[in-house]
Amino acid sequence: MRNDLPKLLQAISFAAKKHATQKRKGANGEPYVNHVIEVANTLASIGKIEDYDVLIAAVLHDTIEDTKTSAEEITKLFGATVSGYVSEVTDDKSLPKDERKQLQIEHARHLSNGAKYIKLGDKISNIRDVTENPPDGWSDQRRLEYINWGKQVIDRLRGVNENLENYFDELVTAAREAIEKP
Ligand code: NDP
Ligand code: ZN
Repeated sequence: MRNDLPKLLQAISFAAKKHATQKRKGANGEPYVNHVIEVANTLASIGKIEDYDVLIAAVLHDTIEDTKTSAEEITKLFGATVSGYVSEVTDDKSLPKDERKQLQIEHARHLSNGAKYIKLGDKISNIRDVTENPPDGWSDQRRLEYINWGKQVIDRLRGVNENLENYFDELVTAAREAIEKP
């Protein structure tokens, strides 16, 4: 879908309310919604993505996983395409964490292109956070393990957006250098 600015603003407002009481895990305690806005911004500014369904889904990408939001609710307000993308990038939280991490690696290549863009934006944002503003108590080893896992996911969905993929690669190199030689 092209150029649906009112729906995009509605999605930002919806996500801000849903994530209102949540904070990122970094020491600076940023509001959680900063992350989902950053993901959409990355897709538009670096990925040059103009598909509003993708940008809206990027803003909503953690609502089902991390807030009381159902796929039906998103379908009703934002349509089936947006809801489909959000569902594709939603982990099944009833599974143990290790299994969820492994499934992200295995599922990556089966995602739609829209969901692949959102994964790229999500991992870019999270690796940036792990580098600049890591969760409290994470050792350097844990930060590096997160980056390695994120790269394993992204390595399985390549060939969809050169700008995002190149940016991701540069970020991983810089992140490893920053953590290994502070
Ligand atoms: P978590 O899943 O617990 O945390 C990372 C997730 O938290 C991100 O994917 C992101 O998800 C969200 N998040 C919120 N705030 C931040 C922030 N400031 N920085 C980064 N992420 C944030 O991490 P893992 O369990 O995946 O741990 C990372 C790696 O470390 C794994 O590979 C695991 O195997 C390993 N590990 C190592 C341990 C050790 O002590 N060495 C112990 C446990 C795990 P979202 O986009 O959904 O918000
Ligand atoms: Zn996210």
